[in-house]
Amino acid sequence: MDYLPVGLKLSNQPVLLVGGGIVATRKARLLARAGADLHVLAPQVSDEIRGLVLDPNHIQLSPWDDRPLGEYAAVVAATPDQEVNAAVSRGAKASMTPVNVVDDPSLCTFIIPAIIDRNPLIISVSSSGCSPVLARRIRSDIETRYPEGYGELARYLGSRRDEVSASLGSENERRYFWETLLGESEFINHVLHSNIAAANDVFQACLSGDGYSRGAVYLIGAGPGDPELMTFKALRLLQQADVVLYDRLIGDGILEMARRDADKIYVGKERSQHSMPQSEINENLAALAKSGKRVARLKGGDPFIFGRGGEEIEGLLAAGIDFEVVPGVTAASGAACYAGIPLTHRDHAQSVRFITGHTKNHRLDLPWNQFLNEHETLVFYMGLAGLGIIAKELVSAGRDPNTPIAIVEKATRGDQRVIAGTLSTIVKRAEEDSPAAPTLLIIGSVVTLHSSLRWFEPA
Ligand code: SAH
Repeated sequence: MDYLPVGLKLSNQPVLLVGGGIVATRKARLLARAGADLHVLAPQVSDEIRGLVLDPNHIQLSPWDDRPLGEYAAVVAATPDQEVNAAVSRGAKASMTPVNVVDDPSLCTFIIPAIIDRNPLIISVSSSGCSPVLARRIRSDIETRYPEGYGELARYLGSRRDEVSASLGSENERRYFWETLLGESEFINHVLHSNIAAANDVFQACLSGDGYSRGAVYLIGAGPGDPELMTFKALRLLQQADVVLYDRLIGDGILEMARRDADKIYVGKERSQHSMPQSEINENLAALAKSGKRVARLKGGDPFIFGRGGEEIEGLLAAGIDFEVVPGVTAASGAACYAGIPLTHRDHAQSVRFITGHTKNHRLDLPWNQFLNEHETLVFYMGLAGLGIIAKELVSAGRDPNTPIAIVEKATRGDQRVIAGTLSTIVKRAEEDSPAAPTLLIIGSVVTLHSSLRWFEPA
């Protein structure tokens, strides 16, 4: 280990910053956040630095002079002049004062890591000066896993330490208690949602040794296919789940993000051959949660757009089970963006309508005369089997047979295809190219933009 990570307590301590430009400003911001009493030495100083210095007398507008540095708790050199930076470093080392020189690890006695500030929880990532950009990337990954509320969580835990010490005599008991409490992801969720009363209940249950394992269901919109279109929240809850129920629209890339030891149960839903009837899915969700499991119910796209999410939570509400619903990128948004077909556009469409094209007995009962507005984009979900009916009914109702239409197949995935035509040609085009599920139909003049705005080239 080249550096030992430690935390410098700088509040109200004099810290000298040599430099007053953009880089120095960044460091000044950080030092001010740590409560340092900033002293600045530089020929010129940014307005922002001026605002951060508590005592205006602590700004000295002059070049570096070989001043003694022993009185400072730390020194940071952030000038563009390497000789000055080196001289500051020498001076600080001579007086054993911790020194950081921006972008020059060889001159530093301490380095400043990339920081995730969820005060009082501070996570720092350092590459020992090898690659600040790599450290920042890793920081972004961690940031998404530990949202703002983790600061609140750390404060909550800190505030209850005395109580726990008073109730539990041995070190071992205390450690077991904290591990049990933090193993209850519902506890963490309660604190993240500022639901302190519920958090207190879990806390008390754990403290009284009753154990506590209350199940919950997370109804998660997993987006249309590209795993990166999941939300941070979807990812966090998925990673907490003990059991994952998923259907046909959920790709491997998304399942891989679940915990390795989580049970993964396929609940199907091919067209017209439902692997597990909806009623059984609902019963399963309730039963698993009641047995104390945290269940992630992964749905393609958004759970509340043609996703039967409403029905699934009705059952959970009736059974008194805790649940959360996480919105997702719906197929229409995913397909439109990845196909370069804006769903609305100043020159083409002022509104957009999502319609189910699911046929029953080869029939599609829809209010076709409401679909005649040329300035509205129509998006049909589940419309491939009924494509012929949709095209024919729209024309019979009065739409121009030359109205553009696109079939977007496997939108946002590596094998996405876009098949474009008009209401009069699309059936033939589909016969030639035989697209496979899942596919989405986009209808309206926005489709013409695909040829110029396409950007996503599937592998
Ligand atoms: N809740 C989902 C929709 C479920 S209905 C959502 O919000 O996206 C299933 C239909 O969604 C499919 O028949 C298809 O029309 C559409 N769909 C889902 N994912 C798709 C994808 N990656 N590409 C094209 N269409 C998709």
